[in-house]
Amino acid sequence: MNALEIEDLVMHFGPVRAVDGVSLQIRKGTVVALVGESGSGKSTVGRCIVRLLEPTGGTVRLADADITHLNRRQLRKHRRDVSIVFQDPAGSLDPRLSVGDIVSEPLRLMRQRDTAGPVADSLRRVGLRPEVAHRSPHELSGGQRQRVSIARALISKPSLLVADEPTSALDVSVQASVLNLLADLQRDLGFACLFITHDLSAVEYLADEVAVMYLGQLVEQGPRERIFGVPAHPYTQALLSAAPVPDPTTQRARVPVLLGDDLPSPIDPPDGCRFHTRCPVAVDRCRTVVPESRVIGEGGHRVACHLVNDDGTGPDVRRTQDTTDTGAAR
Ligand code: SF4
Repeated sequence: MNALEIEDLVMHFGPVRAVDGVSLQIRKGTVVALVGESGSGKSTVGRCIVRLLEPTGGTVRLADADITHLNRRQLRKHRRDVSIVFQDPAGSLDPRLSVGDIVSEPLRLMRQRDTAGPVADSLRRVGLRPEVAHRSPHELSGGQRQRVSIARALISKPSLLVADEPTSALDVSVQASVLNLLADLQRDLGFACLFITHDLSAVEYLADEVAVMYLGQLVEQGPRERIFGVPAHPYTQALLSAAPVPDPTTQRARVPVLLGDDLPSPIDPPDGCRFHTRCPVAVDRCRTVVPESRVIGEGGHRVACHLVNDDGTGPDVRRTQDTTDTGAAR
């Protein structure tokens, strides 16, 4: 059974088409990474799922409940099931409250009276001593504050956690420990997770499946091994070519694909394939005809690109640029 199903999700802010027809499922107990550049709309998808935003169109189903348009009172029943961890722990923790009050907030919203025991358990689970409950968030380090955010998110035992760039505001030295913590908690507690990130090395370590977002739409999605092993969409290939790899020899041999122009504006996205203004292999059809998302391989591997064949073969922009554009890439 799926922990989450979103179908044709649309979120417009006036003329800004931040999310434009995203469909995605997360199976119980699995991690789906949502990747893409900043401005691609991935955080907006996360905020629609936890209903910090009410979608303009489409549906959001949590387990078997449609929560797309529930009001605040109706949502309370589902608050236990879905939580979010934000990018910036300093901005997401109220400095006027104690850590204990922050972590217990989801339980108090559900009118639970006895919170001291669960708060102590939740703090221990994220590697903090229960005494931290009496302190204020500004007395803690960035890494400790993000652990407090995770403790708050998990205290209600949600079936789905949305982790929105959970480590990108932290010092590099503590990023790995927070990622390890999330991976351990996910394995031990078994919640499903939407992991929103631009850091592809973290994705390879954490995710079961990957969905790649470009300018408000998904361009490719599928099992992690397929997205990393046989990426089909030119945008996915470009992202992977720019991601650091642990092996220094492989890293030195890498030629990142240059996409040239910046991400176009979501107010007036390009016609046809939205990626055509930056795609190194675009053809005429790409400028006028929207490519449909099709299954091209096992595990529901899907792609939206005119040039990818039904068996997943097609262009590889990494090879194209290796041989034709190495001067520019240097
Ligand atoms: Fe590039 Fe065309 Fe494929 Fe879009 S549809 S990714 S522009 S080749």
